[in-house]
Amino acid sequence: MIKNLVRKNILNLKPYSSARNKFIDGILLDANENPYDLFGEEYAKNLNRYPDPNHTKLREKLAEYYDISKNNLFAGSGSDEVIDLMVRIFCEPGKDNVIVPEPTYGMYKVACDIHDVDYQSVNLNLDFELDIDLILERCDENSKLIFLCSPNNPTGNLLNINKITQLAENFKGIIVIDEAYVEYSESHKSIDDLKQYDNVVRMRTFSKAWGLAGLRIGYCFAHQEIIELLYTIKSPYNLNKYSQMKAIDALSNESIMLKNRAFILEERKKIISFLKEWNYTLEVYRSDANFVLFRTSVADRLFNYLVNKGIIIRDRGNQVNLNNCLRVSVGTSDENRIFMEAIREFI
Ligand SMILES: *Cc1c(COP(=O)(O)O)cnc(C)c1O
Repeated sequence: MIKNLVRKNILNLKPYSSARNKFIDGILLDANENPYDLFGEEYAKNLNRYPDPNHTKLREKLAEYYDISKNNLFAGSGSDEVIDLMVRIFCEPGKDNVIVPEPTYGMYKVACDIHDVDYQSVNLNLDFELDIDLILERCDENSKLIFLCSPNNPTGNLLNINKITQLAENFKGIIVIDEAYVEYSESHKSIDDLKQYDNVVRMRTFSKAWGLAGLRIGYCFAHQEIIELLYTIKSPYNLNKYSQMKAIDALSNESIMLKNRAFILEERKKIISFLKEWNYTLEVYRSDANFVLFRTSVADRLFNYLVNKGIIIRDRGNQVNLNNCLRVSVGTSDENRIFMEAIREFI
């Protein structure tokens, strides 16, 4: 069933066979590498050698962490790579389309535009929830993917799971759920709720709660056939050695992530109650993520005022249904205090 959705050239593709695919140990004279290690320090050992193209150890670690099979896991250079690969696998340029509820993250559109794939936006309702009827009405035989972002960026809310289920049951293509901020939400570890749907792909990342944005590590859970396709078409060494190693370290130190998470959730609470009290606030939206979206009668002026003070937040007013909305990330308590003090002094 999945195979019917895949582009023919991708189904027939014979992948590049990299030297490190078969042999990892031994006298390695197969990949034209430099036999001398430049640094040799413990943290950067064997950087003269190509990384494992199959991310074996990282996938084993993720499999253990989430209690699923390694065969349902793919790792990429950030979720952004996974987004791009999903479009490449399923969407015929100039023919197929992708459905995306908005307002949301901008990369889904960019990936579609790069590949000349028709991007169809559908509005979320005014509570930033999915309108299932509207989405299904928009689908046709060329609709291959639906991207959902949950918790959604920039609105902050987790999407209703029953509606996602309804969509998974009724949509003939693949649903890709971007869960970049899921660690900040109630359902922060579980992946059981959508397990039975072969057409659901869930993307996660080390860039947010895990604090490794600079290393570019994303991953996804999917049906084994989709995972195999991702490994077939990705560039051979998409995830560097250091990133693979540090992602494993991070998972082995979950308590650090949980401690930071608890701290950020506390800070989020403070920012939300502060903004709710402020005179010029029209609305502060519920957040299941590490940022807060708020609507204010003075959005443009406040944004510029903060920039002048060297405090940078995000103006989201151009997105559909987000007139006069600003998004602020939860920073350190010092940063948040400075942000709130500046707003207090705003006239
Ligand atoms: C930050 C973010 C990501 C992370 O992308 P990476 O490429 O993994 O750093 C993905 N999706 C959304 C919605 C984000 O806001």
